[in-house]
Formats: sequence, structure tokens, C-alpha cells
Amino acid sequence: MEFAFTEREELLRKAVREFAEAEIPPKMEAMEETGEFPMDLLKPMAQVGITGIITPPEYGGVGMGYLARTIVLEELGRVCAAFPMALQVHHMACAALNDFGTDEQKKKYLPALATGETLGVVAVTDPSGGSDLIGMKTVAELKGDKYILNGRKCFITNSHLADFWIVIAKTGEGAKGLSAFIVDKDTPGAKLGRKENKFGLRGANTGELVFDNCEISKENLIGQEGQGLTVALKTISETGRTGMAATALGILQAIYEEAGKFANERVLYGKPISTLQAIQFLVAEIYTQLDICRLLNYRASWMKDKDMRCDTETGMAKFYTCNAAVEAAKKAIEIHGSYGIMKEYAIQRLFRDAMVTVPAGGTAEVAKAGIGRAALAPFRK
Ligand SMILES: Cc1cc2nc3c(=O)[nH]c(=O)nc-3n(C[C@H](O)[C@H](O)[C@H](O)COP(=O)(O)OP(=O)(O)OC[C@H]3O[C@@H](n4cnc5c(N)ncnc54)[C@H](O)[C@@H]3O)c2cc1C
Repeated sequence: MEFAFTEREELLRKAVREFAEAEIPPKMEAMEETGEFPMDLLKPMAQVGITGIITPPEYGGVGMGYLARTIVLEELGRVCAAFPMALQVHHMACAALNDFGTDEQKKKYLPALATGETLGVVAVTDPSGGSDLIGMKTVAELKGDKYILNGRKCFITNSHLADFWIVIAKTGEGAKGLSAFIVDKDTPGAKLGRKENKFGLRGANTGELVFDNCEISKENLIGQEGQGLTVALKTISETGRTGMAATALGILQAIYEEAGKFANERVLYGKPISTLQAIQFLVAEIYTQLDICRLLNYRASWMKDKDMRCDTETGMAKFYTCNAAVEAAKKAIEIHGSYGIMKEYAIQRLFRDAMVTVPAGGTAEVAKAGIGRAALAPFRK
């Protein structure tokens, strides 16, 4: 078993860390206040390879794969998790098009995503319930050579920032009754709804998309009619879950760093509190969780790169890392005493950001339902 990164992956980590530490902090106060994502950093991120990390070179990307992507998202998340939140959904759009799009669709849409012309969007969740995909109410009805789309998508990342959206809608009944479409934002009947005002991941744009007799050309169907559930599940489980897990991993790394720094700087009884065994135990627990999560994350992305089935592993990485980040943030706040809840200290933002990763990309319960099925399969008679 080999636990080392390639030289190219190490260089990528260094480049993304340098980029994140130099470019993101000056933007963070405004992001927290306004909830706006700094789109002026999209092109610079493209230059580092961030936007096109999983897109093949023939479509304008760098094609380094999922382990490299996890490194990228983790490093961005260490500085500000709104970035990997936005970028991981962007990569979901890249993956959906690359896996299921026609050559024409790939040529038309993938280079714009890879080179940072626009951000990617994958709109699955309806107000009727994100976990119940088949129960969605957004409908696309075929009339002549157009689909007429009606309905509403909620909690959609990058909704107000993208030039086109990948939308899953109902075209029939049951598991084969969903289809995936590319919707250009300027299509008549396609509208932006409200922008959400979240308590965490503030700088990542989340909002509603509204479709009111929106006419979509048949050429904008991704894959076959009725393949929408496959498009959604593959994209969510492979790209979405690894992306959310890596976002939470970055937060967890930042929590560890904040806890360690504070414990060393805060002096009580004439000594840093890091000399108290109770504090050392809290840091040890955070550090151990960080290591477990790192291994879960890297293994899941490595499996994806090797084309192995990895839905159980991505589910474990996602739910475990997001929950671990929340628990670690609580411990780090304890270490900070009352400073931990003051706005001047980063740890309160890390707690808020960690909380938002929990439902985003699918809840822990839904992930555990899949893991439970896989874990119990050997015992089924
Ligand atoms: C920051 C953020 C960004 C997001 N970005 C996107 C995006 O880009 N695109 C997109 O399509 N969606 C996005 N979402 C939506 C997200 O995927 C959904 O919120 C999530 O899937 C849960 O759906 P819901 O909120 O409707 O909760 P519900 O589905 O209503 O779930 C409510 C509760 O029921 C539980 N539950 C549901 N099913 C089961 C089950 N089978 N067993 C046990 N318990 C169950 C859930 O775990 C939860 O506790 C985003 C959400 C957030 C917070």
C-alpha cells in the first residue's frame, strides 16, 4: 500500500495553498457581510488549474482527476470553505457533462467551465424535498421538438452566478421518469428566484431557479430521456459527496490549526493552556478525527480515479467528515473559552461553515441508508 502523493500532486497542493493564502483573505470580510462570491477570482483559479481539475485537456481542463481535486478543495477550504463549496458544485456540472453529454454539448459547454468563463450549476433539489428525488415536482413536458419546463429548484449553489444550469426534471413516472437538461440562463421562462441568506458558507451563492413555461430544445437533453436519476445519482455520489467531504476536510484542518494556535498562545497559571492535559486530549481528538477523515477522503477519490465502484466509500467520507468537522469545531470553541464565540475569532465561522456542510450534498441519514445496505449485503439471505 502506497501512502504518498505524486510530485505533480505535491506541487499542485503548494500552488493552491499559495494562491488561497494570498488571494482569499482580502475577500473574506466582504463575503461574510454580503454573501457574494468573488467572481473576479474565477479566472485566476482557472490559471492554477482549479476550475478544470477533472476536465480532460481536449475540453480545456487539466484532467488531473479526483485525488488532485480533493487536494485542491481541501486547500481552498482550509482558508475559506465558501470556495470549495462553489467549486465542488462547479465540478459536478463538469462531471455530468463529461460523463453523459454528447460531443457537441461537451465542446460547447465544458471549455467555458474549465477555463473559468462561468461557474457550473447542478439543480436537483425541489422544495418538495431534496432526499426524495423521484418525488420532485419540476416537470419537463415534450411538445413537438421542445421540452416545456415548469417548477422551482431550491438551495442551488452558484444559481445566480452561472451562464447555464444542469437541471433535473420529471418527464415521466418512477425511477425512469427523470431527465437531465442544460438550460441557458437567458432562455425565456428561466428566472432567478430568491438568494438564500445562510448562517455559514456565507460567501457561496445559494438560491432558487424558477421555470415558467421555459422552452428547452431537445438538443439540450443530457443522455437519454429517463436517464436523469442516473445522471443525478452518479454525479452526486461520486463528484458531489467527494467534493463536500473535501470541503469539510479543509474546515477540519483549519479547526485543528486554530485550536493548536490558541492553546499555545493562551496563558493561564503562568503557562500556555496547551500544557494542560485536558486541552491536549481535546486537540488529540481533533487531530485523530482529521487523520481518519483525510484517509477516508483520499481513499474515496483514489477509488474514483481507478474507476472502482465507490458509492459506499464516498458516502462514508461525506457524512463522517462533515459530522467530524462540527464536533471538532465544538471542541475547539471549548478550548477558546468565551473567545470562541466572538466574531473576531475564526473558530466561530468554522463552526458555522461546518454545520452547513451537513445537509449540503445530501444528508447523513440518506448516506447512511446506502452504507447500511452495503454493510448488510453479505448477511442477506
Ligand atoms: C449550502 C447548500 C448547498 C446546496 N447546493 C445544492 C445544489 O447545488 N444543488 C442541489 O440540487 N441541491 C443543493 N442543496 C440541497 C441539498 O442537497 C438538500 O438540502 C439535501 O439533499 C436535503 O434535502 P432537504 O433540505 O429538502 O431535506 P429533506 O429531504 O426534506 O430531509 C429532511 C430530514 O429527513 C431526513 N431523511 C430524508 N430521507 C431519509 C431517509 N431515507 N431515512 C432517514 N432520514 C431521512 C433527512 O436526513 C433530514 O434530516 C444544497 C444545500 C445546502 C445547504
